[in-house]
Amino acid sequence: MRIHLKVQGLQIQRSNEKFLIYHEGKPQDLGLFDHVIVAASPGALTQVASKLIDRNLLQKWTSLPALGVRVVLLSLKEALNPEKKYYWYSLRRTKEHPFLALVEHTTFVPAEQFGGEHMIYLATYLDTQDPDWKTSDEEVLKCALRTCAHINPALNRSL
Ligand SMILES: Cc1cc2nc3c(=O)[nH]c(=O)nc-3n(C[C@H](O)[C@H](O)[C@H](O)COP(=O)(O)OP(=O)(O)OC[C@H]3O[C@@H](n4cnc5c(N)ncnc54)[C@H](O)[C@@H]3O)c2cc1C
Repeated sequence: MRIHLKVQGLQIQRSNEKFLIYHEGKPQDLGLFDHVIVAASPGALTQVASKLIDRNLLQKWTSLPALGVRVVLLSLKEALNPEKKYYWYSLRRTKEHPFLALVEHTTFVPAEQFGGEHMIYLATYLDTQDPDWKTSDEEVLKCALRTCAHINPALNRSL
């Protein structure tokens, strides 16, 4: 078995009785396979296997409405909220705090399992056309730290 990570421009096409998988624009193929399982969204499937999919189905799948999710994962030296051991904070999304949830994952799975670091993730669902996707990584990180400091003002001093 081979595992390929961070594969971009993956394409699947028929080659006689088999399926050929290759990187678009790269000379080396990933190989020939009897069967292929794609465990991604229908939208992604239409990108990687457009030549194999019936035109009507392709149209149906590309017009399916979908939301994207933007997730910021933080690895902190200390717990975000050591006083209150909450796992999940449901938030009201605002311009200042553009997240629907903040999760202190290490109140559920011990920090020891993450090398002693405390795992926090902040997430929000966005329409695929939402202009918020254009916000830079730096700005999103700034917002995430601001939201963390809102939960625990003491954290502000150590950031
Ligand atoms: C913030 C958040 C919190 C959640 N919390 C929970 C929870 O507590 N409990 C729970 O049960 N579920 C939770 N979920 C839901 C859970 O994460 C999903 O249901 C699950 O990850 C779906 O798995 P999947 O394998 O179907 O899809 P994904 O995990 O989305 O995997 C799809 C994969 O396909 C890859 N891909 C996409 N396009 C291409 C392409 N063109 N070429 C190659 N690869 C491609 C992607 O990179 C990705 O790795 C949460 C989700 C979010 C966003």
